[in-house]
Amino acid sequence: MPKDLTDLSIREARHGLRNGDFSAVALTQSYLERIQQLDPQVGAYLHVAEDLALEMADEADQQHSSGQDLPLLGIPIAIKDVLNTRDMATTCGSRILEGYIPSYNATAVQRLIDAGAVILGKTNTDEFAMGSSTENSAYHPTRNPWDTARVPGGSSGGSAAAVAARLAAGALGTDTGGSVRQPAAFCGVAAIKPSYGRVSRYGLTAFASSLDCVGTFGRTIEDAALLLQIIAGHDLRDSTSMDVPVPPYGEIVADDVKGMRIGVPREYFVEGLQPAVEDAVRQALDTFLSLGVEVREISMPHTAYALSVYYLLAPAEASANLARYDGVRYGKRETGPTLWDTYRRTRGQGFGPEVKRRIMLGTYALSAGYYDAYYLRAQKVRTLIKADFDAAFEQVDAIVSPTAPTTAFKLNERVNDPLQMYLSDVLTLPASLAGIGGLSIPCGYDEDQLPIGLQIMSPFFQEEKMLRVASAYQRATNWHQRIPVL
Ligand code: GLN
Repeated sequence: MPKDLTDLSIREARHGLRNGDFSAVALTQSYLERIQQLDPQVGAYLHVAEDLALEMADEADQQHSSGQDLPLLGIPIAIKDVLNTRDMATTCGSRILEGYIPSYNATAVQRLIDAGAVILGKTNTDEFAMGSSTENSAYHPTRNPWDTARVPGGSSGGSAAAVAARLAAGALGTDTGGSVRQPAAFCGVAAIKPSYGRVSRYGLTAFASSLDCVGTFGRTIEDAALLLQIIAGHDLRDSTSMDVPVPPYGEIVADDVKGMRIGVPREYFVEGLQPAVEDAVRQALDTFLSLGVEVREISMPHTAYALSVYYLLAPAEASANLARYDGVRYGKRETGPTLWDTYRRTRGQGFGPEVKRRIMLGTYALSAGYYDAYYLRAQKVRTLIKADFDAAFEQVDAIVSPTAPTTAFKLNERVNDPLQMYLSDVLTLPASLAGIGGLSIPCGYDEDQLPIGLQIMSPFFQEEKMLRVASAYQRATNWHQRIPVL
């Protein structure tokens, strides 16, 4: 029996399209039908751009007939709704941006389009990417395709769920403190957060500007690496994007790993780590040993401070970045008798509770008299966390840990307990604070058949190392081949 077209990885689909086995329109239609049929159960999308997607697919078919070959020609991709898409609603999961239609594409989106991709639509996110479960979306929660009573993780939960449920071949997300890695772990897919500055953020709505990174999702690490190769690189429109050549990530994943050294930080095996998660990660370490990789226990003594540092710095930056949503320049406006009332009503009604909490925390941490005690001190501890990584990478090529302390939790289980929610990022925050790359790939399933994620981190601007390690693991195992049944 022929495989359903939506079961093909990006690589397989490109092969089929090149061969003329099927058209881009047929592939796109298969995805649109599946979205129509199954997304009501999952809620991965905020907006499906059916007509536009079919137009783009048709154009891809024409390009193919005229002999054009582009790396993503005809491949249907989903975009997290914090990245601007021209003529397509971009809400950031917030009421305050309801009705906002950008006049330009984010650079990452434009690069996918230039590589021939078909944009299927915009995926759900926690409001302004603040959250770990996609329940903070102002529109609807997204559900985990492996168990729809559970969350997909967040904040890029829509993108992770779409890729896992075969509602997109690949997707873009963003990661400020874990938002591509943690949902990838919960949904059993691969995702890459590159180093800070690797991918342009032009057209990405800023949350915490010293941390925000655009990342990629695929069903395999090879697919996620290919997407990264396309979106990475210098952009004159983003002064924080670095002018450093982009390695062919999509190809180097196949390089040998024998003789590589990986470090396993003692401090990442935290209290509250689910036993099945620890077991799966320890088994992965055995797999690495059998591949000829050297595995060493290492220590990263400042790991425990990452959570406090992040929840001072990220809200501080967010409180400044979100000041622009005043009802005058973008989206929704709730007019009052005075300008002050207009601001108050617009922001009061436009922002949800988690965004308000962050703005208040951040404003407090930055205020006169508290700045030195909180913000400044957090910056200093951030440097110590980065120094832990610098020291570790003198001994090892990559660092391996669980991606999240537990598998996917139930909807409503943590929404009213922000601290519990924040704890689901405890293992992804350090790499974000250090600015280095991190990825997550599936490494097993727990007793409820929920996916477990393996996090692999590598030195600043040396993504190729973690990609090689991840790809070797994937070639030696078949966890990534399981498909959730909806
Ligand atoms: N969950 C973390 C937060 O709420 C990280 C979010 C993200 O990476 N965008 O801030």
